[in-house]
Amino acid sequence: MEKFVYSFNEGSKDMRSLLGGKGANLAEMTKIGLPVPFGFTISTDACKDYLDKGGVLSEEIVKEVYDHLSELEHVMGKTFGDVENPLLVSVRSGAPVSMPGMMDTILNLGLNDESVKGLAAKTGNERFAYDSYRRFIQMFGDVVLEISKAKFDFIFDGKKEAVGAEFDVDLSPEDLKSIIEDYKALVKEELGRDFPQDPKDQLMEAIQAVFRSWNNDRAILYRQLNNISASLGTAVNVQSMVFGNTGETSGTGVAFTRSPVNGENKIFGEFLVNAQGEDVVAGIRTPQPIAEMEQAFPEVYAKFESVAEILEKHYKDMQDMEFTVEDNKLFMLQTRNGKRTATAAVKIAVDMVEEGLIDKETAILRIEPDQINQLLHPTFDSAELATATAVAKGLPASPGAACGEIVFSADDAAEAAALGKKVVLVREETSPEDLAGMVAAQGILTARGGMTSHAAVVARGMGKCCVAGCSEVTVHESAKKMVVNGKEYHEGDVISINGTDGSVYDVAIKTVSPELSGDFGTIMKWADDVRNLGVRANADNPRDARQALEFGAEGIGLCRTEHMFFEDERIPKIRRMILADSESERREALAGLLPYQKGDFKGLYEVMGERPVTIRLLDPPLHEFLPKTEADVNQLSEQFGISKEAIEKKTVELHEFNPMLGHRGCRLAITYPEIAEMQTEAILTAALEVAKEKGYKIKPEIMVPLVGNVKELRFVKNTIDETAKKCFEKAGMELEYMVGTMIEIPRAALTADEIAEEAEFFSFGTNDLTQMGFGFSRDDTGNIIKEYINDGILERDPFQSLDQKGIGKLVKMACEGGKETRPNIKLGVCGEHGGDPDTIEFMYKTGLQYVSCSPFRVPIARLAAAQATIKNRK
Ligand code: PEP
Ligand code: MG
Repeated sequence: MEKFVYSFNEGSKDMRSLLGGKGANLAEMTKIGLPVPFGFTISTDACKDYLDKGGVLSEEIVKEVYDHLSELEHVMGKTFGDVENPLLVSVRSGAPVSMPGMMDTILNLGLNDESVKGLAAKTGNERFAYDSYRRFIQMFGDVVLEISKAKFDFIFDGKKEAVGAEFDVDLSPEDLKSIIEDYKALVKEELGRDFPQDPKDQLMEAIQAVFRSWNNDRAILYRQLNNISASLGTAVNVQSMVFGNTGETSGTGVAFTRSPVNGENKIFGEFLVNAQGEDVVAGIRTPQPIAEMEQAFPEVYAKFESVAEILEKHYKDMQDMEFTVEDNKLFMLQTRNGKRTATAAVKIAVDMVEEGLIDKETAILRIEPDQINQLLHPTFDSAELATATAVAKGLPASPGAACGEIVFSADDAAEAAALGKKVVLVREETSPEDLAGMVAAQGILTARGGMTSHAAVVARGMGKCCVAGCSEVTVHESAKKMVVNGKEYHEGDVISINGTDGSVYDVAIKTVSPELSGDFGTIMKWADDVRNLGVRANADNPRDARQALEFGAEGIGLCRTEHMFFEDERIPKIRRMILADSESERREALAGLLPYQKGDFKGLYEVMGERPVTIRLLDPPLHEFLPKTEADVNQLSEQFGISKEAIEKKTVELHEFNPMLGHRGCRLAITYPEIAEMQTEAILTAALEVAKEKGYKIKPEIMVPLVGNVKELRFVKNTIDETAKKCFEKAGMELEYMVGTMIEIPRAALTADEIAEEAEFFSFGTNDLTQMGFGFSRDDTGNIIKEYINDGILERDPFQSLDQKGIGKLVKMACEGGKETRPNIKLGVCGEHGGDPDTIEFMYKTGLQYVSCSPFRVPIARLAAAQATIKNRK
């Protein structure tokens, strides 16, 4: 016969899916002999059975509950509903996966008109007993009987006013008794029946209410947000109540075996004498640090310390415990693996390896890769943050915290920074001209743009905090002001922004710098020792390359050459090239760009030494570079002696409706081969010179973007090879180089076998592959995606974490096609997904050799790569 109910002495921690997390751990604590108030767990199978039957508890389950109740009465020596020594229980939900606060809990069940007298006698506190009873009726009325809480509050507040009570505690036992009568009348009026006086009826109704709460709106939403299956169901724990409020020898507390804030190996927690857990939650009294428990109850504290140690050794992880002391006797009410900050996670993992509690691989798996983001960027001082309220929320485009005076232009940012001021650059949206301002600012706030907008990509590349697409902010750049929900802010006003969650504050909040050595360094070294997947960085200049090396990158997976022109002095030159009317004009403009490019590439090779560096030929969304303002046009006209009319005419001609699908990528190198020639010359001569000067063995990797057809690649490769020959002749020296391609157009993935005839490597451009695979514009679809996630159409933003089912299939197909033609083809990814832990695991399983991501995500990728290696080995 199927079994639905388990006493705490029948289960174990491995029965989580059946007993829920809380039930399994209560059983485990009971099993290892720790003091747990006795009780039983009604399984998730019972929940499923109840929901499947359309909300009916089967007779078998009811019978099993009654049997366990008799056992509980016997063990506790108390009887349900007894006037002298009543058994009272708590009824709590407990799902297999923690869903804090999402489902219902009922305390003090078993109270009725008789047993309340027993509780008063036992606690010697009539006021407390009647207050518990009125709370119980209210909680039961709201959760089980589904009577609006407001109706109970109305009665309660009315009574307070009538007797002139300022606080709840000012109500006398007599006042509470009268409230109870009114509550009971309310129940009768609402339901046409009396408030259940039989504790067994109360229990059966409460169990069903907890089961029903599995499908309340908040629980459903929480499951959607956290990818929790609706089929798990919740268990229900029925546990005898113990009282921490029977006097000065009782109390209640919550504690961690180590500090969840900094990981220090010392019990961390809070305690309240003569109180129930609820008092702590309700904030009626301020709890004391756990150290004071040691002074108030030295013996009980010593016992608690030993329990904490047993639990940590047993679970081999930091525990988060709830306990109650009743008349100098300790009872454990819950234990679970504790949530912790990144700093604490790293320290605890390293310490536990040193203590011999866990091995290095377990330590690596214990750390949430995304969490270590917190360690790489400045964060807000937690005490100051706690007192601040956000005035707006945008997209968390690039993590970190920044605080500074508002400036509205890149020039103002650079000027203020030169004077030693800290500034936050606020823009409607950013453009390439803003680069210098972005470098100078502490952080960037934009009113428009998505997660892959220019501002976001560039900011992430620099590791600079950025909140993008903050639609609550209206920016008036020329008037140097912004308006947020009706309030105006001007240049010089201080704001703080959090790029990790998108919050904007209109006060100064202190920031704290990251610390990369110590325990963090130890974990990263262990990760490097086990991982079987390379980690490179996307870096466009020596500064970012140096940063990437510091974070442990093994090469550059993507240098976006168009980003090299985002500098004041260079922008007019590239504009001249774009606006050229003839090949000769273009060649002239390109000749002006060559020295810059060569210098940049030399810089990269000097920093990277013999590590691989993939340089991509120009792939500019041209619209980003066209002259935008009158000043731009004037400058071009003056500098190059072209008439303004001609510039304007050409700009109109070059306008594209869908620039992301327009004249970019290899299309540019095919229509204007001279661009690819100049870039190839710059790449190879830079490599030759650095190889000669430094004695490095450099093997450039030249990457062709936006290929969808092997003939495109063949065409551009031909240009590259011809140019290379000329370069080598001129230099009287040769070196090996590779030519490969981005796989970022679905057709390229589908015809990868053909493309591999020309390509020596593939690098997956998952940004464009997602854009074109879904038909979602990278720049315009942010709000639609947000809604799709809310509606459950998408589970996650496919621009952040690869859509493995669809886009992932293209990646797999391309890997297979590529290997079919060229078995040892080099495979990597350089889209933004290269820094996403789930995507990294997918890419590892698909057979890629490396991932490449922005420098600040390199440590995350190293850890995720190690985890992927360990998990897929086990
Ligand atoms: C990509 O498309 O994934 C990619 C890396 O290229 P970009 O973002 O520069 O288009
Ligand atoms: Mg691309």
